[in-house]
Amino acid sequence: MRQDFDTSDCYTIDGKLALPYSYFAGRVGSKFITTLRDEKKIMGVRCETCGKVFVPPRQTCEKCMEDIRDKWVDLGNSGELVNYTVVRYNDGHLPRKAPFVLAMIKLDGADTPIVHILEGIGFEKIEIGMKVKAVFAEETTNTILDIDHFEPVQ
Ligand SMILES: [Zn+2]
Repeated sequence: MRQDFDTSDCYTIDGKLALPYSYFAGRVGSKFITTLRDEKKIMGVRCETCGKVFVPPRQTCEKCMEDIRDKWVDLGNSGELVNYTVVRYNDGHLPRKAPFVLAMIKLDGADTPIVHILEGIGFEKIEIGMKVKAVFAEETTNTILDIDHFEPVQ
């Protein structure tokens, strides 16, 4: 980086920036959210060429470039913990107060994991590969947080 002036007597000040925003979910993303909200079902899409099942659903298979927007499959509400991290800082955009667990969960029948909150277990007891299930929120937010969290299957 080119630097034309001496900054050794200057401070760097950390700031925080929160930007409310909206984005267009499209038909595939909208159906995913409305099915969560109205039917308490997690849906993915399957590529008929390679068999890969995507969740959250997408319009096109990343491998085959097939249009898969109408190839819906019901994935059920349980899956396996693929990976996780403990979030240990608070920030206005996060869905929970720290500390909490963000997990990658591969739903049964899916080939791609989703990221969501894992609750109902002590951090020290979490094990990769454990079975988990979705717990739906009582009130909708019309977002992925219509799944309130995942918890271990007893
Ligand atoms: Zn494919």
